[in-house]
Amino acid sequence: MLEGVVPFPPEFAQRYRAKGYWRDKSLAQEFSSVFHQYQSRIALVDGERQLTYGDIDRLTDNLALNLLELGLKPLDRVVPTLPNIAEFVILYFALQKIGAIPIAALVSHRFAEINQFVRLSGATACIYPERLGDFEFEPMIRRVQQGNAQLKHSIPLSLLKQLIEKKANLSKEKLRDIRIDPTDPCIFQLSGGTTGIPKLIPRTHNDYSYNSRTAAPVCGVTRDSVLLLALPAAHNLPLACPGIQGYFFQGGKVVLSPTTRPEEIFKLVERHKATHIKVVPALLIRLINDPAIASYDLSSVKIIQSGGQRMQPEVRLKTQRLIPGAFVQENFGMGEGMLFFVRPDDPAEVKLETCGRPICPDDEVRLVDNDGREVPDGEVGELTCRGPYTLRGYFGVPEYNAKQFTPDGFYCTGDLMRRHPSGNYVVEGRKKDLINRGGEKISAEEIENLILMHPAVQNVACVPVHDANLGEKMCACLILKPGKGLQFPELVEFLKEKEIAKFKLPESMLVVDEFPVSTFGKVSKKALSEMAEKNANH
Ligand code: AMP
Repeated sequence: MLEGVVPFPPEFAQRYRAKGYWRDKSLAQEFSSVFHQYQSRIALVDGERQLTYGDIDRLTDNLALNLLELGLKPLDRVVPTLPNIAEFVILYFALQKIGAIPIAALVSHRFAEINQFVRLSGATACIYPERLGDFEFEPMIRRVQQGNAQLKHSIPLSLLKQLIEKKANLSKEKLRDIRIDPTDPCIFQLSGGTTGIPKLIPRTHNDYSYNSRTAAPVCGVTRDSVLLLALPAAHNLPLACPGIQGYFFQGGKVVLSPTTRPEEIFKLVERHKATHIKVVPALLIRLINDPAIASYDLSSVKIIQSGGQRMQPEVRLKTQRLIPGAFVQENFGMGEGMLFFVRPDDPAEVKLETCGRPICPDDEVRLVDNDGREVPDGEVGELTCRGPYTLRGYFGVPEYNAKQFTPDGFYCTGDLMRRHPSGNYVVEGRKKDLINRGGEKISAEEIENLILMHPAVQNVACVPVHDANLGEKMCACLILKPGKGLQFPELVEFLKEKEIAKFKLPESMLVVDEFPVSTFGKVSKKALSEMAEKNANH
């Protein structure tokens, strides 16, 4: 097993195998049967390109062999930053065939993030588009290489396309010779940003396959299902919950949308008669408020699956009015594993109020107080959980894991919840220090550490302020050094120089003389949030 991965204790592994959750197959083995079984069916649509399962099998074999020839090996870590294009999907399954481990980076990540992912994972390859908009990736990757000697391969999209098409020199036997341990990671997802430095989430072949196979029927996915995917495909929900993997397991079809522009999405839904759309509430809000919605036939849509953020009941109700045949299915999930879904046959008020319940009978949920004691039923506590597809530790950070996991292996999520009498759960807030901007999580500490480097800043606290579209936006609350001044545009420029993803830039600033403190003498971010919100509304 890859060093730095925390294994499931043997007694749990045994139980998960005995119950059939873990099948001890690599994702490559799992999908080899899938590609074979559904050979002639369309699996993937990207613009005018339509690929069958057979095509994907052939192209991923070919790419895997070419990557092997280039020097990639089992357990190598690879950082792709690709948009929603067929090449991403082909790369993902080709890496699985080699037993290499992709890191779920985004096309919006910049030097600061890519450099961290490469360093933390020890990645040997980066795969990226040459340019996107006015941003050139190549010089950035070169700089990452300068500081990371092990990063041998830099593969721009044009080369990736050649490697997919160019007939491989190596024989297919080479792939059959590769041995993959199904308890090893098949991907590193990225933690939702509770600390300054992102953590890598090892998802194993056994657990990631179970995750998607089990989520698919819960979301009504069948071989006739057509998923419209506009959210970044590497994220856990679009990739695996049930995501691309889950639709493929069922023999369904995935239509990639390279953009989140509502009208483009409507066009694709109408053209391909999409049955499912994957959204975060922020995207759904854009869709239902775009006047173009009335010009398209969206009646094929049966399920709109929403996760990553709390869904406001008004959004659900308006969606139901505009797309009456669609069920807005709430999903609470996380890169770390645990997945809740509202079920289609839950009573109406349960659908409206709750974020669902776990997908596996052996998912264990405990809501606990600050001392780790389980709260009485119906009261609010922190969600702690363990189960057959929830991690037992982040990659290579034992000290951090000691804080984030209980001694008996429950992952402490930092989310506050209450059990609803129906058995479903209701999100009540969170105690972790992040901003949930349209489903993308921003670590307050990460941005605070950067802002503290500014010569005019004495102290800083980044807090969420409510936003009608995105759910939350970040406000940087500052105490300036005596006699110093700082304007908001200057702060943004300063942060841009730190080369972080654009979605992490604060969207407002509040200068105060001192921070409000709680009864324990700690900075009260709650009070600061309220101040920032009042300020924003002026
Ligand atoms: P990520 O790993 O980026 O998917 O983020 C996981 C976190 O997103 C969870 O721990 C929650 O804080 C938040 N989250 C996910 N789904 C929901 C939901 N349905 N309602 C509220 N918060 C959610």
